[in-house]
Amino acid sequence: MGECLFCRIINREIQATIIYEDDRIVAFNDINPQGPTHVLVVPRRHIATLDELTPDDDPLAGELVRRAAAIAKQRGISAGGYRTVFNTNRDAGQTVFHIHLHLIGGRTMHWPPG
Ligand code: 5GP
Ligand code: ZN
Repeated sequence: MGECLFCRIINREIQATIIYEDDRIVAFNDINPQGPTHVLVVPRRHIATLDELTPDDDPLAGELVRRAAAIAKQRGISAGGYRTVFNTNRDAGQTVFHIHLHLIGGRTMHWPPG
């Protein structure tokens, strides 16, 4: 997916502050952070939305979630609390169609979200 912004970040064609990577996952700082910590945890493989996930992707989805928790712990924000969000499609405000788990923390948040 040559046109996909996050594929291009993963392929190092566009600069980003990558804070973690392994064979399946890359995590980098959001360019427009909504808190002191705002990290996007993404699969290397291009998957447009949660709607494209298959049962074969269950381990990958678990890894995304567990990696977000590990990064939160590393940042020292676990006990205070943090938010993890997948935006899917228009009404949720998804703007980049390569799935990404937002990890936002380091400040008090409110519910429901806007
Ligand atoms: P969405 O609205 O699709 O859930 O989230 C997309 C996120 O990607 C937004 O939080 C936005 O700030 C972030 N973003 C958009 N373009 C870039 C970019 O070029 N680099 C980085 N690091 N983040 C980006
Ligand atoms: Zn992509």
